[in-house]
Amino acid sequence: MSELPNITRVRHEVRLRRTTVVDTEMVAPQLKRIVVKSDDLKGFTSLGFDDHVKLFFPNAAGELHLSLPGTEGAPEKIMRDFTPRRFDSDAGELTLEFFIHEDGPATTWATNATKGSELGVGGPRGSAVISTEGIDTHLLIGDETALPAVARRLEELPAQTRAIVVAEVEQGFELPLSSRANLQVVWANRTGAASGPGEHLIAALRKLTLNKERCFAWAATETHAVRAIRRYLVEERGFDKRWVKAAGYWQRGAVGEHVVVDD
Ligand SMILES: Cc1cc2nc3c(=O)[nH]c(=O)nc-3n(C[C@H](O)[C@H](O)[C@H](O)COP(=O)(O)OP(=O)(O)OC[C@H]3O[C@@H](n4cnc5c(N)ncnc54)[C@H](O)[C@@H]3O)c2cc1C
Repeated sequence: MSELPNITRVRHEVRLRRTTVVDTEMVAPQLKRIVVKSDDLKGFTSLGFDDHVKLFFPNAAGELHLSLPGTEGAPEKIMRDFTPRRFDSDAGELTLEFFIHEDGPATTWATNATKGSELGVGGPRGSAVISTEGIDTHLLIGDETALPAVARRLEELPAQTRAIVVAEVEQGFELPLSSRANLQVVWANRTGAASGPGEHLIAALRKLTLNKERCFAWAATETHAVRAIRRYLVEERGFDKRWVKAAGYWQRGAVGEHVVVDD
């Protein structure tokens, strides 16, 4: 494939914002949607479906400290990356979706969050806008942490395209996904032991009939798994690396990891 997908990078002024929870809802087992509101959100901009914000959580004393990473003398902060799922500029409301896993400051905060809870939001620093033009098939691969970005992408796709979602989730997890595009969703259940990282997703991908021509693959999940998935797509399915975007959204045994996976 000679043509490249059209990706435009846009920088944003970095702002730190104090917000308050105005609504919470479980949208699927273990997926909690939380809406935060603030006058500080004026001017919030997120142009790319896989943008991320840095979320700042109150410390054990309930204090919320906000400062840019590397700020000298600043109190220790707890930060994690999350996808801005939706922004309503008229209402000044930002929607986030948290996968509630076993443990961690983000999971604990989200589990306990109710109306009035405080949350700090930093960024996004920038957006990588992947144009839908020139792409016939959007292959979106990931686990629950990727679903906010996947759902956002599906909502922006035009009708003439094809979208295939391959998502690794617990048995019984279902999130309604919709798109103007011709959509196929494959739920890869995380049941039974996987023989290696990414194996549940790779097994589901093996069963897919795919036309690689103008097919852009986007993948985000655990870092070792996403490396294996990218390798599978490139080495076994013959994808041009430039038509694959892969990121580690978390890493087993590590905290707050974000790894862009390339060569
Ligand atoms: C660009 C980007 C966008 C993201 N968007 C979202 C989003 O919209 N929604 C969302 O839920 N997550 C999202 N994530 C993933 C999220 O940042 C991580 O899961 C993060 O580690 C959660 O923080 P924590 O405080 O709960 O756990 P941490 O303190 O970071 O980790 C504690 C322990 O939990 C493990 N762990 C972390 N995540 C998971 C998981 N998903 N499943 C099982 N074990 C885990 C770690 O390996 C560690 O052992 C995104 C990540 C990136 C890089």
